[in-house]
Amino acid sequence: MTKTHPVVIYSLYFPVIILTLYYGNVYKDIPVLTESGLFLAGLFTWTLFEYSIHRFLFHYLAETSRGKKIVYAIHGVHHEYPRDKERLFMPPVPSIIIASIFFLFFFTL
Ligand SMILES: [Zn+2]
Repeated sequence: MTKTHPVVIYSLYFPVIILTLYYGNVYKDIPVLTESGLFLAGLFTWTLFEYSIHRFLFHYLAETSRGKKIVYAIHGVHHEYPRDKERLFMPPVPSIIIASIFFLFFFTL
């Protein structure tokens, strides 16, 4: 549950990106230039979110041993094995949960 190959994440999200852009352009009449701007805004927003969650959650200074184990399991193991390419990306299950929350939030606006 803490390892995933980068190809898994790419193959999960590239189709979603392509289909979402296609859906927006064809079915919602969003111009390509607007989609491009929204795509860049999404990249910026995601980068900011990722930085914030990394800074404040993944490196949370837990005081209890249970808390330290949780922080280690969530992210500490990534720093323990920084050259392990299968620990560069968030595993699919939590990634899909977080992405679904974002997706539902932005599609219900
Ligand atoms: Zn870190």
